[in-house]
Amino acid sequence: MKPIILTGDRPTGPLHLGHYVGSLQNRVKLQPNYQQYLIIADSQALTDNYDNPGLVRDNVMQVALDYLAVGLDPKESTFFIQSQIPELYELTCYFLNLVSVARLERNPTIKDEVRQKNMKDAIPAGFFCYPVSQAADILAFKADLVPAGEDQNPMIEQTNEIAKRFNFLYKQDVFKEVKSMVGSVGRLPGIDGKAKMSKSLGNAIFIGDSADEITRKVRLMYTDPNHLKVSDPGTVEGNVVFDFLTIFDPNKAEVEELKAHYRRGGLGDGVLKKRLTDVLENMIAPMRQRREQYQNDPEYVREILRVGTANARQVAAQTLSEVKSAMGINY
Ligand code: ATP
Ligand code: MG
Repeated sequence: MKPIILTGDRPTGPLHLGHYVGSLQNRVKLQPNYQQYLIIADSQALTDNYDNPGLVRDNVMQVALDYLAVGLDPKESTFFIQSQIPELYELTCYFLNLVSVARLERNPTIKDEVRQKNMKDAIPAGFFCYPVSQAADILAFKADLVPAGEDQNPMIEQTNEIAKRFNFLYKQDVFKEVKSMVGSVGRLPGIDGKAKMSKSLGNAIFIGDSADEITRKVRLMYTDPNHLKVSDPGTVEGNVVFDFLTIFDPNKAEVEELKAHYRRGGLGDGVLKKRLTDVLENMIAPMRQRREQYQNDPEYVREILRVGTANARQVAAQTLSEVKSAMGINY
C-alpha cells in the first residue's frame, strides 16, 4: 500500500504561481509514489465567501482545470469536491469538542487572515473553526503527508493535536501523525511586493494567464522605487522581479551576474522584466495549452470530479465508521 497524501485548494479563483511552487509541483512529483487525494475545498471557501456562493461554484471547475494543466492525473490521483462528502462534517462535529476556543484564537494563520480580510469583530464562526474542518479532511483520509504552502503549518499542527487527543480519549489508535511538506518556495510574494501572492488579493499571476497578461503583470511588478535612472545603483532585496528570477529562471549563474550588475548600476528594469516575461511564458505556455484543451471538454472534467468524489466518499465513510465505533456511538 502506498502512503497517503491529502492536499487541496479553496475554489476562490484559478490557481497561481504561488500554488505552483508552494504545493502543486510537489504533488506532481509525488504523484507516482503516493495515493493522492486532492480536495477542492468549496465549503471552506464559503466560510469567507458565504455571500458569494456563485464565485465558489464557478471556481470548482477552474481549480480542476489547473490541476490537469500542471500534470495532476485523475488516473493516479483522486480529485474530489469537499461539500459533496457529508461524512466530513460529521467528523468536524466530533472534532470540534476536542479543541478549545482559546486554542483556535491562537492559530497564527487565522489571525493573519482575519487581519487581511478585515473581519475585525465579525469573524464568522464557520471561518473561525475551519482549522477543525481541515483536520477532519486530513484525518478522514488518514493522510501521511500534506504538501502545502508555509501558511498551512499551523493547520497541520492543530490536526495532529486533534488526532492525538482523539486516540487518547477514546483509547484507540484510529489516527496517526501527519507531516507537512512545504514546496520549493513556502510563500511566493505577490506582484505588488506584498508578502503573499493570493487569489483574493489581486496580486497573482495565474497558471492559465495569456502571454499578454503575463507581460502586463510583469510590467506592473514592484522593483526598487529609488532606481530611477538606468545608471543608478539598484537594490535587489525586496525587488519582486529579482525574487521571481531567482525562483523561476533556470540560468542561476546569469541571474547572479544580473544582480551584481543591478547593484553596480547600469542595468534597467525593462531588460530584467523582458527576461522574466520570457522565463514565465516558457514555463506557463505548455500548462496553458493543456488547460485550454480540457476547458473545451467540460463534461470530461465533471466526470473526473464525479468519480473522484464517489471514491473519496467511501474512504471518508470508512473512517467515520471507525470513529463512531471508537466513541461507542454506533447504535
Ligand atoms: P485565498 O486567498 O482564497 O485563501 P490562496 O491564494 O491563499 O487563496 P489557498 O487555496 O488558500 O490559496 O491555498 C492553497 C494552497 O496553496 C495552500 O497549500 C497554500 O499554502 C498554498 N499557497 C497559496 N498561496 C501561496 C503562496 N503565495 N506561496 C506559496 N504557497 C501558497
Ligand atoms: Mg489561503
